[in-house]
Amino acid sequence: MATSKKDIRALTRDDLRAFFVDQGDKAFRGNQVYEWLWQKSAHTFEDMTNVSKATRKMLEDNFVINHIEVDTMQRSQDGTVKNAVRLHDGLIVESVLIPTKTRTTACVSSQVGCSLDCKFCATARLKRMRNLNPDEIYDQVVAIDKQSRLYHNQALTNIVFMGMGEPLMNYKNVIKAIDKITSPEGLGMSAKRITLSTSGVPKMIRKMADDEVKFNLAVSLHSAVEEVRTSIMPFNETFSLTDLKAALEHWYAKTKRKISYEYVVWKGINDTQKDIDAFVKFCKYVPCKVNIIEYNPIEDGDFKQASSEALQHYIDALEKNRIVVNVRRSRGKDIDAACGQLANKK
Ligand code: SAH
Repeated sequence: MATSKKDIRALTRDDLRAFFVDQGDKAFRGNQVYEWLWQKSAHTFEDMTNVSKATRKMLEDNFVINHIEVDTMQRSQDGTVKNAVRLHDGLIVESVLIPTKTRTTACVSSQVGCSLDCKFCATARLKRMRNLNPDEIYDQVVAIDKQSRLYHNQALTNIVFMGMGEPLMNYKNVIKAIDKITSPEGLGMSAKRITLSTSGVPKMIRKMADDEVKFNLAVSLHSAVEEVRTSIMPFNETFSLTDLKAALEHWYAKTKRKISYEYVVWKGINDTQKDIDAFVKFCKYVPCKVNIIEYNPIEDGDFKQASSEALQHYIDALEKNRIVVNVRRSRGKDIDAACGQLANKK
């Protein structure tokens, strides 16, 4: 429910320490509460059992904890779990737990809806409502970590920002969330196990490189031919492949980390030799690996998965050029949890 009280997790640890000093309490109390809020992921002030009743009441009077709630959870036959997550203002986003033999990956959302307009993506059909706050991104990870422990007997191993939204259009909050996820004061996960996926916002890719972020970068490329990319991802008109290439070169120069390209091959759209040649050429600009994703049909879409021959042509061409390529089988299709299917259907 909306309230005028301040979201306590918008405060830094220093803010909280100062707040307690202002209240005539010890700064150290700020640390205790901070630990409850992040490391222990407390949903209510009542949970903070090493803080006095009076202090808890005082916090209750001044602040709210805008914790997400998992509204519905669906489990796929393949073990994938999809959460519809309710935010404090009633809006819903989705996040997914994807288990494999060796790892469990959380796929998290960064916006309610999406700012971009990819023609093949179900999320793009939703209006972008708002950016998620850092704590709302963090909470999705905490919820999935719990599910990973419960259903797969292991802590979460990886995180991908491949849920709803364009993370680079909510850069500040995504970075704050990642800082908490990687900090020992939060979840203490390694940044190496986190991948941010973007449709390709050149200016922000440069910024990330300049900020010396330690996580991995994936780019949803889908075409290396300017007109083709613009036809399926209209924002490419503004953020052209030429600018994207330059930004990716900057990223590599600064970070020395390989980029992953996400790529779907569609019938009649990007399945010709010309498309393949352009992609192979693009892959040579900076060290990279390629993930070919299976197309997940969305309702009333005009897109069709290309034939397996067309796919094989891509794979052969990439491998001939010594580019590592993986073909990703879709997970959680039966519950609309696969790439591009997140659209708050429930
Ligand atoms: N906006 C970011 C984060 C979303 S990630 C980005 O574009 O990278 C979602 C991934 O699923 C992207 O790689 C996207 O291109 C892909 N995708 C979208 N719709 C899809 C569909 N119907 N089938 C398969 N992949 C899809």
